[in-house]
Amino acid sequence: MRPKFSVYRLINVNDILKQSVTDVKGIGDEMAETLADMSIRSVGDLLEYFPYRYEDYRLKDLAEVKHDEKVTVEGKVHSEPSLVYYGRKKNRLTVRLLVGRYLIIATFFNQPYLKQKISVGETITVTGKWDQHRQTITANQMSSGEHAKSQDFEPVYAVKGKMTVKTIRRLIKLGFSQFGHEIEEILPAELLQKYKLLSRRDALRIMHFPSGADEMKQARRRFVYEEFLLFQLKMQSLRKIEREQTPGIEVSYQLDKLKGFISGLPFPLTGAQKRVVNEILGDMKSPYRMNRLLQGDVGSGKTVVAAIALFAVKTAGYQGALMVPTEILAEQHSLSLTQLLEPFGVKTALLTSSVKGKRRRQILELLKQGEIHVLIGTHALIQDEVDFDNLGLVITDEQHRFGVEQRRVLREKGESPDVLFMTATPIPRTLAITVFGEMDVSVIDEMPAGRKTIETYWAKHEMLDRVLSFMEKELSKGRQAYVICPLIEESDKLDVQNAIDVHSSLSVYFQNRYKIGLMHGRLHSEEKDQVMKAFSENEVQVLVSTTVVEVGVNVPNATVMLIYDAERFGLAQLHQLRGRVGRGSDQSYCILLADPKSEVGKERMKIMSETNDGFVLSEKDLELRGPGDFFGKKQSGLPEFKVADMVHDYRALETARNDASLLVQSAAFWQGEKYRSLRDYLRETGALASEKLD
Ligand code: ADP
Ligand code: MG
Repeated sequence: MRPKFSVYRLINVNDILKQSVTDVKGIGDEMAETLADMSIRSVGDLLEYFPYRYEDYRLKDLAEVKHDEKVTVEGKVHSEPSLVYYGRKKNRLTVRLLVGRYLIIATFFNQPYLKQKISVGETITVTGKWDQHRQTITANQMSSGEHAKSQDFEPVYAVKGKMTVKTIRRLIKLGFSQFGHEIEEILPAELLQKYKLLSRRDALRIMHFPSGADEMKQARRRFVYEEFLLFQLKMQSLRKIEREQTPGIEVSYQLDKLKGFISGLPFPLTGAQKRVVNEILGDMKSPYRMNRLLQGDVGSGKTVVAAIALFAVKTAGYQGALMVPTEILAEQHSLSLTQLLEPFGVKTALLTSSVKGKRRRQILELLKQGEIHVLIGTHALIQDEVDFDNLGLVITDEQHRFGVEQRRVLREKGESPDVLFMTATPIPRTLAITVFGEMDVSVIDEMPAGRKTIETYWAKHEMLDRVLSFMEKELSKGRQAYVICPLIEESDKLDVQNAIDVHSSLSVYFQNRYKIGLMHGRLHSEEKDQVMKAFSENEVQVLVSTTVVEVGVNVPNATVMLIYDAERFGLAQLHQLRGRVGRGSDQSYCILLADPKSEVGKERMKIMSETNDGFVLSEKDLELRGPGDFFGKKQSGLPEFKVADMVHDYRALETARNDASLLVQSAAFWQGEKYRSLRDYLRETGALASEKLD
């Protein structure tokens, strides 16, 4: 655990606890300044300044202690301590101790005065680091006599500047003796009872002055729930207010036409597709503005769902837009949507930065006049010059790649268009309900029938020859292959295979037998197009590429995905890459070429070869990397909790989410005394304007 200087704050409902820390006797102005640097300003801030870990002074059986672990033991002094000087001020005191059935050595550096305090036959307690091989404790603390039970755990606090852990402990103690009785409950009694939670006052006291492991667990459990409930209440209230205050469009789509469109599709919808289509249509029809996230693994069939929604909005007389992160993807989507929609009289157009001149002007004009019903494109879609006649639905694919700002700009293009975010990166449930807590979430959790699962193998680099001959066998059957490399060119810093190198060596390897293409982000878009076209028409059999092919590219004849230095990619990304194959009826393969050094790296390769389920992978990825790294720090927007941990406490998170949702929906929550403290909290955090309450 590392210290958290949390942004997320708990609350002081009691006005007395809102007073300045200088009201605590013993805290002066200077100390208050130091505390302010740690964001401790009020008495309540001080009382709620949680330790980030505890020093564990419980006596342990040495047989159970690992090498290098910190330990506290009680032992009988076996022989006279010996003191050795080995420098001007350096000395070492060693004493032999009988601890249980172990005869060990305790060593103290530079504490010569301890010699007087230790006599043979006496029992002493020492704390320090256990060296299993030498049977020695390098001790930094010692007390004579038997272990004092009340000191099993000592809180450790994050400190800054001149503050020390000792001082903050003392200040918190002062604060508690003067103001501890002012701490009030904020959770409703029925929830405290239901989950058998400690009162706020008791729990807070235990966090700072614990006397046993069990009660610490209970205190922590209470605050985990409290943090999650407050956080969820905030998200859910925001969602409720947003719903009720931003009137959306009631899209009156024509059901008979829509049914005709769906039955005209080349395949029946899966159960999951039907379910999410209904959820989306329900939003569109409602007077609220849709704000929905659609999650579905690669290949689960999101594009068709998007097409249905776009068709529906057209039958109601509105335009739709689909925004994707790359040009290649825009072109692919444009192709498949046009195929699906044009036969039913829906005019589509593609707008990217490479659509220029007359063609561009024409599209913009037709769009303004409402002659184009569905516009597909990259972020070029949200430039100022793009005017819609009557925008009713905005769909963005690969949602987490767009910034919040871009999403807002796009949303503001129409009156209040419905917004659907699609993502093929399965977002772990735990993150989805925190990060997207204010959104509705639909999940396609079923693959179209008849899909073969992709077989995934992990190979060391030394096995490259065998891997290549396997690839050649597939090529000889008329199939194609992707080869993915982490970088474009050779780099001094990273010893990784790069696309250009790999491309030239594979060109030599396959000589006159197969054509090898090269694709990376530095090519011009016309060049990219050419390469992609050649690959999809099987003029090129092996495509060496960086991760630009990660998203959406669809070449059903490709059955081999070979990934160099696979340990450099996260699980989510590997899964995306793997999703490029297995798109046709033939058995497909994914080969991870990797020599991971770390345990985490090995674990990733193993998980990849064991499961094809994107949601399982994403949960594992989250466990391995932690929530901050999952989305990349900057755009994560993850809340920070003082006590709770989103990954490990996810059950509590789900429970709190349900409770918050019930509360927010109930009329009783919004008036009367019972829930006043919770409403106060919402007001304090700015989730609700103050005039909106009571
Ligand atoms: P995603 O965008 O979720 O990765 P796509 O929408 O591109 O997936 O669909 C992947 C492939 O599956 C496409 O070729 C599509 O035509 C096909 N497909 C989609 N839905 C179904 C279905 N219900 N039954 C059979 N094939 C489907
Ligand atoms: Mg797709």
